[in-house]
Amino acid sequence: ATHMAGEKEAALAAEPIDGPTIFDKIIRKEIPSQVVYEDQKVLAFRDISPQAPVHIIIIPKVKDGLSRLSKAEERHVEALGSLLYAAKVVAKQEGLDDGFRIVINDGPKGCQSVYHLDVHLLGGRQMNWPPG
Ligand code: C5P
Repeated sequence: ATHMAGEKEAALAAEPIDGPTIFDKIIRKEIPSQVVYEDQKVLAFRDISPQAPVHIIIIPKVKDGLSRLSKAEERHVEALGSLLYAAKVVAKQEGLDDGFRIVINDGPKGCQSVYHLDVHLLGGRQMNWPPG
């Protein structure tokens, strides 16, 4: 997400790398973010470019090779479960009692822009189907 380009352009410009990303700096609190939930395994913070009244990014604190969902292996199953469970906890905390949307973007065709697995929690408005 930049001022010059839209989400899709940012995603298509992103390098699908396995190395460190901006989310490592957010986890280490080297760059500020609006944290809404944190435990031993996951961090949840408000998206800087919100696509809904509530738009929260939930990430594993330890990346462990999980740059994208398509890189998931058996050892990641617990982390994947923790992310979805945290999404439910945060949705409740945000008062999204009438429903919400969970999104995981994978790769260029999925419009992924940061290569550190991230779960989007979107809510506070009526979602549409199919997604864009
Ligand atoms: O699914 P994807 O990897 O593209 O999602 C990354 C999300 O992280 C984007 O919605 C972007 O706006 C958000 N982001 C952020 N803070 C940053 C960099 C990206 O909230 N510093």
